[in-house]
Amino acid sequence: MNVLVINAGSSSLKYQLMNPETGDVSAKGLCERIYIDGRLTHKVGDKKVVKDIPMPSHSEAISAVLDILVDPVDGVIKSVDEIDAVGHRVLHGGMEFSDSCIVNDDVIAAIKKCIPLGPLHNPANLMGIEACQAVMPKTPQVAVFDTAFHMTMPPKAYRYAIPTEYYENDDIRRYGFHGTSHKYVAKRTAELVGKKEFKMINCHLGNGSSLCAIKDGKCQDTTMGLSPLAGVPMGTRSGDIDACVVQFICNKYGMSVDECLNMLNKKSGVLALSGVSSDFRDLEAGEANGDENCILALNKFFYEVAKYIGAYAAALNGVDVITFTAGVGENGPDTRAAICSYLEFMGVKLDPEANNCRGKERLISAPDSKVQVWVVPTNEELMIAQDTAELVNAAK
Ligand code: ADP
Repeated sequence: MNVLVINAGSSSLKYQLMNPETGDVSAKGLCERIYIDGRLTHKVGDKKVVKDIPMPSHSEAISAVLDILVDPVDGVIKSVDEIDAVGHRVLHGGMEFSDSCIVNDDVIAAIKKCIPLGPLHNPANLMGIEACQAVMPKTPQVAVFDTAFHMTMPPKAYRYAIPTEYYENDDIRRYGFHGTSHKYVAKRTAELVGKKEFKMINCHLGNGSSLCAIKDGKCQDTTMGLSPLAGVPMGTRSGDIDACVVQFICNKYGMSVDECLNMLNKKSGVLALSGVSSDFRDLEAGEANGDENCILALNKFFYEVAKYIGAYAAALNGVDVITFTAGVGENGPDTRAAICSYLEFMGVKLDPEANNCRGKERLISAPDSKVQVWVVPTNEELMIAQDTAELVNAAK
């Protein structure tokens, strides 16, 4: 089976053509500068092709992807009919979606209903879906939501302690994000430890970071909230912050709430604390040179991640497995060691040699550690392709 996985952003569109059973990727790439001019970068194995192609909308971007996939020189399939289904990443499923689903008119209407909750991403995700429907009307489309995995949270985790009307009338609550990644890592970890019933805390640490408390494969709590701004400090996002900070800054500097939120989303996090970069490699380089601001940024990040692991160990009343994933989680042995050093009180003990790895699926805790610690590289595209294949096969 061939599944085309699409992640449409406001001016970009990433794609992968993959086999959901084996995880083999036959081609992948990126359309950039949609609405501006248009550039396609297409990769098959080690071969990379870059083409400037006019992309006045997402429609032309999708057409460019399909054209290159069937191209006699750079393509990997003979006809678009060889694409059995398309899986779309959709950011916000609100309270409408607790699982992935095959796209129909009702699904499109429900994704539109969630636009106020995901104003930047949902319109772009919809454009990706509608563009595919237009150019490949017979091919089933599946929507995979970043929020869906978190819909098993109990009310005590998802309700905010604010007047009920905002929940009842406006759906204001914790939703959580990175759900496709947390779901993939939870599923893979169950295979690795050979159990279905266990308590785990997954740390998705990348440019955006979130943690997820998972019991028997189901999300119990997660650090992001109504939006991805909440939780631990990230590359450029502040993470949790007292709402009065917004009031103070808006009043003192005559900023609008939107401007202040833009600052909290794009100019904060480890970028702000370090004054150097949002990239953890740059922070580690700064730390090695004794840069105090880089050291503070890293220490703040380690501290807040460890604090949430402690909180989730209490929320779950124990923890069997801690997993690290995404750019920093997979590639940062020093980050993992610094975070785990806070957790010695609960019997977490790393094996320094095993932990000295990057991007590999591996048990990194010592044999006598009370909690297993694993690095499990995430694969959101594979999760999207697997959900897509499962739904499309079931509907046959
Ligand atoms: P995104 O949230 O954009 O998907 P990623 O999961 O790709 O982010 O993570 C990006 C982060 O991973 C960057 O901050 C980068 O510094 C970090 N990273 C990637 N490789 C390494 C590495 N070898 N060592 C430390 N950090 C790394």
